[in-house]
Amino acid sequence: MHVLILGGTSEARRLAELLHGTGVPRLTSSLAGRVSSPRLPPGEVRVGGFGGVDGLVAWVRDHGVDAIVDATHPFAETMSFHAARAAAVTHVPLLALRRPGWVPVRGDRWHGAGSLEEAAALLPALGRRVFLTTGRMGLAAFAGLDDLWFLVRSVDAPEPPCPRQTETLLARGPFTLDGERELIRRHRVDVVVTKDSGGAATAPKLTAAREAGVPVVVIRRPPVPEGVPVVPDPERAARWVLDRLGGRSSPTLG
Ligand code: NAP
Repeated sequence: MHVLILGGTSEARRLAELLHGTGVPRLTSSLAGRVSSPRLPPGEVRVGGFGGVDGLVAWVRDHGVDAIVDATHPFAETMSFHAARAAAVTHVPLLALRRPGWVPVRGDRWHGAGSLEEAAALLPALGRRVFLTTGRMGLAAFAGLDDLWFLVRSVDAPEPPCPRQTETLLARGPFTLDGERELIRRHRVDVVVTKDSGGAATAPKLTAAREAGVPVVVIRRPPVPEGVPVVPDPERAARWVLDRLGGRSSPTLG
């Protein structure tokens, strides 16, 4: 019995921790390999793409996978789509683990955007000094905004092309509210851009922006592929896995 976790998130790591030692005979976490020194989960870890849907189908068959949890980031749309296709082809049960998105509260000045490009188009009307927290990929969408200054925060160095006036801050969450307040103050940030990643680790920037009266461009999530069941936390994902395997073994969740 073999469980495949498509990872790259703290929730995926937590799920691996929960399942490790429950009696699940084989557990593999898969990472895309985007981050140079990822925090590794317990159990087996494989790194790198599968080679599209066909590659994933072959991997699932070759390695006797019995259940898949897509615990990738809410914006890892391609991988989620591939997982849904591969699960349909192989008839292996698939669950999506998605932390809930953020919800605005009183005082927030949020502007929704459907993509990085839409976010870039909104910026000139909102501010001049941008705190860009959408990750190191896709900065080309902002590269034409020569009049704006960008503070780009990412785990690894951003990939060019980048905006002309860019300062890079290499950092990995979780971030503190005091730290985010200080960043906004010190860099005189007047607009923030974020994906609707959800979760507590990177939410303090939203509070700091609200307190400072700074608008936030929030990029909306892509949908989870149709027909794939979704749970919001690792505990429920672990329960789903154990229920799937329950007929064949009797592992318990610690
Ligand atoms: P993506 O656009 O959905 O996927 C692009 C390709 O990367 C996939 O087709 C697949 O290659 C490979 N891939 C993605 N996730 C993989 C995984 N867990 N294991 C093996 N291969 C994987 O993904 P992305 O947005 O570039 O994100 C890459 C990874 O970073 C994901 O694991 C995600 O959880 C994590 N992450 C993403 C974001 C974000 O904002 N997108 C933020 C934080 C963390 P093949 O087609 O060759 O299989």
